[in-house]
Amino acid sequence: MANPTVKCTVDQCTHYMPGDQCMAAKISVYNNEQAGYSSEDGDTQCKSFHQRKTVGDMVGAVHNSNIGGMITGAFMDGKQLTPEVECFVNHCAYWHQNNVCQASSIEVAGYNAANPQDTDCKTFKEK
Ligand code: SF4
Ligand code: SF4
Repeated sequence: MANPTVKCTVDQCTHYMPGDQCMAAKISVYNNEQAGYSSEDGDTQCKSFHQRKTVGDMVGAVHNSNIGGMITGAFMDGKQLTPEVECFVNHCAYWHQNNVCQASSIEVAGYNAANPQDTDCKTFKEK
């Protein structure tokens, strides 16, 4: 099953690249700890968020970077990249066994995020 394309507007994250691209090789989506389970998109979070403090932090995130996506030029062609998406929000209609997300694309957002709980999977849909 193909990974969903990921559109992300969380420009405070080390993995964020202009064009609303996520350059992480893999992202993990969780329920927010307080909520325990998600009944709305605000209860979800991208656990792979890492706050960018300096511009150099972008380079620091290279250990979890989608080098293949960069090399094949998907990024340069303006296509959305497809990091591997593992998701633990089993209350979502798109969630499938083995923590697979079956949506064809997802959108991650979180204005001025400082920690993962400030981010949401906007594509969440309650089962
Ligand atoms: S918040 Fe998540 S989806 Fe967005 S750039 Fe960071 S790791 Fe990628
Ligand atoms: S759409 Fe649903 S299953 Fe897919 S990453 Fe978001 S919360 Fe998880």
